[in-house]
Amino acid sequence: MSWRRRPWRPNWGLGEERRIPRRDFLQGTLIGAASALCGPLLRAYAADADAASMAAPQDQPGYYPPTLTGLRGSHPGSFEAAHALRDGQDAGPGTDTRETYDLVVIGAGISGLSAAHFFRARFRRDARILILDNHDDFGGHAKRNEFHLAGGLQLSNGGTLEIDSPRPYSRVAEGLIRELGIDVEALSRKVENHKFYRSLGLQHGSFFDRETFGADHLAVGTGALPMRRVLGGAPLSARARADIERIEEGAIDYLPGVPSADKKLQLSRISYRDFLRDLVKADSQTLAYYQPKSHGEWAVGIDAVSALDCWAFGFPGFRGMHLEGGSIPRMGYTPSGYKDTGGSATLHFPDGNATIARLLVRSLLPEAVPGGSAEDVVTARVDYGQLDRADSSVRLRLSSTVIGAHHIGEPSSAREVELRYVRAGRVYAVRARGCVLACYNMMIPYLVPELPEMQKAALHSLVKSPLVYSSIALRNWQAFSKLGVEQIYAPGCYHYETVLNPKVDIGTYRSASTPDQPMLLRMVRVPCKPGLPEHAQNKAGRAELLQTPFATFERNIRDQLARMLRHGGFDPASDIEAITVNRWPHGYAPEYNPLWDPELPPEQRANVRARAPFGRMTIANSDSGAAAYTDSAIDQADRAVNELLRLYA
Ligand SMILES: Cc1cc2nc3c(=O)[nH]c(=O)nc-3n(C[C@H](O)[C@H](O)[C@H](O)COP(=O)(O)OP(=O)(O)OC[C@H]3O[C@@H](n4cnc5c(N)ncnc54)[C@H](O)[C@@H]3O)c2cc1C
Repeated sequence: MSWRRRPWRPNWGLGEERRIPRRDFLQGTLIGAASALCGPLLRAYAADADAASMAAPQDQPGYYPPTLTGLRGSHPGSFEAAHALRDGQDAGPGTDTRETYDLVVIGAGISGLSAAHFFRARFRRDARILILDNHDDFGGHAKRNEFHLAGGLQLSNGGTLEIDSPRPYSRVAEGLIRELGIDVEALSRKVENHKFYRSLGLQHGSFFDRETFGADHLAVGTGALPMRRVLGGAPLSARARADIERIEEGAIDYLPGVPSADKKLQLSRISYRDFLRDLVKADSQTLAYYQPKSHGEWAVGIDAVSALDCWAFGFPGFRGMHLEGGSIPRMGYTPSGYKDTGGSATLHFPDGNATIARLLVRSLLPEAVPGGSAEDVVTARVDYGQLDRADSSVRLRLSSTVIGAHHIGEPSSAREVELRYVRAGRVYAVRARGCVLACYNMMIPYLVPELPEMQKAALHSLVKSPLVYSSIALRNWQAFSKLGVEQIYAPGCYHYETVLNPKVDIGTYRSASTPDQPMLLRMVRVPCKPGLPEHAQNKAGRAELLQTPFATFERNIRDQLARMLRHGGFDPASDIEAITVNRWPHGYAPEYNPLWDPELPPEQRANVRARAPFGRMTIANSDSGAAAYTDSAIDQADRAVNELLRLYA
């Protein structure tokens, strides 16, 4: 038996001691220092800080955050000032920059960038706009992870994966995407090879871990082979095996004799877990197998999502239920059966929807993003030094957390707003004729205490769900090739999903085509606490994420890959080149969930009450659309800009 065939045990050669770039390095130079300086809460507000030594990272020559590894997403240094504000720390008035703008946008996610784009197009091409974001890169969730492996560029999405929605794109969102040069269907046909891994004989697999199921086992062929064959060697009881086969392949009506409309109503009142347990009569091992199946769609397990929404998204078990297509009010963002109506067309760029963010920045600041097409932007190197130039009408200022916004005078008659933000440990103030708050909606009451109490309560309730997308750079993907697997569902593990980077060749970008080449993996973790109400689960998960050091993520990544790929000869000590953990304590925008939310007409829901304009301030972000999708972020920007422009006549 070779070394690689020995059963893997903790502490055997996981390779954590290897010198992989595990903290924030920029082209070999440690740049975490500057952001670390604004980390500690009190120092975030240090009025007497030495300005020269507190320069924000964006101001440093050669600054290029997409290549940073270690803890990304909500990275250290990005959230401490906001949490200090939440905890009641007073930052003081701040230094007046004497800068004035036509518009200040809070948040450089897709919503904020779209708001700047729409404002310039509808108000004036030379409108003076400042965009502020607390992160060290723009894009919000649309985050680019960039690796240079064996001399070649490899890209993955640190957050938002693709252009995709269960509903067709609105005219506005589709129009913007087209204006940016993206023809979703044509480009998808040209650059994406969905069948690539299949053509190499790779399939989906499920990993059963010993802690949950009693033994480590990788079952390959889910979705392609009969479940009886797939689950042949799985550590499951005969009953669980039969249950899973029945759920995946059977056609049983679990509510015989009940009309479709009544069935749908019943299914909207129970979780998918309850459906499996009480109607399908699945046993506990089967429930454990399906528990994280809804993590990718809703960032919470099957105990907190309605069975009807799971039906609409094509989950198994409903084939024999004869449910008619069409939506009912008690459905989440799954209007009439995603699989029935088809949602939007889909397209995955190698860095996900970071390409949309980069194209928006190109439209606002052409000198920062070289090139002229949606294909060449993929390999374009953004010149971050161009983002915040004093002589530019549009300025994008990173590492800048807004901590206050108020009207100069009465909100109903004011002509200006003033915003304060923390950057590199100092507080600054700017003024503008108006402001779009495209940031997380739940923090707006802290920024604008003068808002009506009812609106503040609605805003506070819009809290995003946490999740983690880790990008793992591998020396090669021979283990996947040997095992015949391209994607692994691991219901009991730290990361519930592991996926090989999609095959997309676009412009001059080439993704890996042979197993001996470097490859990026995406591993997804959703921290939640089954059994609690949805928002309590999210809260516990968010706290867990913020307390988890990089070393814990790294160890779990190495351990899980070693165990899942053991029989493919995977060696975590030598096969892993780099790890980027994109943690998103504020990830998916909250959507209507019929299990937990009051049944209200759409126009009375919290997101609608929350987004009411307030004087010269309007509210965007996907939160205000109650949909964790890019088109929602764009639509909300469109609305917020139109509301504001009514005051600019
Ligand atoms: C892991 C993940 C995967 C996803 N996958 C998809 C997908 O495949 N397809 C899809 O359509 N959607 C997806 N989404 C949903 C995604 O949220 C939207 O697509 C969209 O990117 C949201 O954009 P936004 O501008 O509304 O919000 P955000 O991207 O959150 O941008 C808001 C920005 O405001 C900043 N901000 C907050 N407070 C302040 C402050 N006080 N001062 C300054 N800045 C502040 C935030 O840090 C952030 O950068 C995904 C989301 C996540 C988290």
